Amino acid sequence: QPMRKLIIGANWKSNGTIQSIRSLVQTVLNPAIIDYKNTEVVIAPMYIHLPIVKDILKSDFHLGAQNCSLTGPGAYTGEVAAEHLKDLGIPWVILGHSERRHIYGESDAVIAEKVKRAGALGLKTIICVGENLDERVAGTTTEVVSRQLDAIKYSLSDWNNVVIAYEPVWAIGTGKTATPEQAQEVHGSIRLWIGSNIGRLVANSTRVIYGGSVTDENCKELLVLDDIDGFLVGGASLKPAFKTILEICD
Ligand code: PEP
Repeated sequence: QPMRKLIIGANWKSNGTIQSIRSLVQTVLNPAIIDYKNTEVVIAPMYIHLPIVKDILKSDFHLGAQNCSLTGPGAYTGEVAAEHLKDLGIPWVILGHSERRHIYGESDAVIAEKVKRAGALGLKTIICVGENLDERVAGTTTEVVSRQLDAIKYSLSDWNNVVIAYEPVWAIGTGKTATPEQAQEVHGSIRLWIGSNIGRLVANSTRVIYGGSVTDENCKELLVLDDIDGFLVGGASLKPAFKTILEICD
């Protein structure tokens, strides 16, 4: 298997108080015993918590935002631009999360533009793709994921800074994890897409991570699969179990 460095993202979503995130950093993240040379860990708190976490998080960890604006800085009330993330020293941003797609109506085209803006500024992106339950039942998973990838094909010039997260919508926050067979099948198809649309070397070097109800119980059986290079963890990243996940995976 090619040497792709393991990467684990923690998507805290719109959760936490100043007190609870401080405690999470001090009791769960900072004490984790992992070799950061083997494993890259990206913590994504909500925007306003980013500076607070940045102040207290061990520098072995990396920080990410959960979104960025479709626009640059300016008269865009309520928005946070990629430029602002860069200014704050936040190297990563999650884009295309299913909650952004489905609750906030972000289309493939909107996500493609955000990916383009973030990429152009040198931010590293975790780009989420994945089918919903109807699409899986209809047997169109590969088609849906390919369509989502087609949309970002021309948004990026540098794939070194890209991680693709396969997150089946039916598995996010539901306690239903994709089986290892289901996950490997889609991860394999994502790598094939990268190979035929971007290039073979890029396909070998790009991390493809799985997200959807990952826990300390199921991470091991997923991680052994050829095309799974880590995880994007939601619910479990807010719990002491996240330390266990990091230590099991490392
Ligand atoms: C996510 O939101 O990216 C996610 C994978 O959530 P959960 O782990 O809670 O399913």
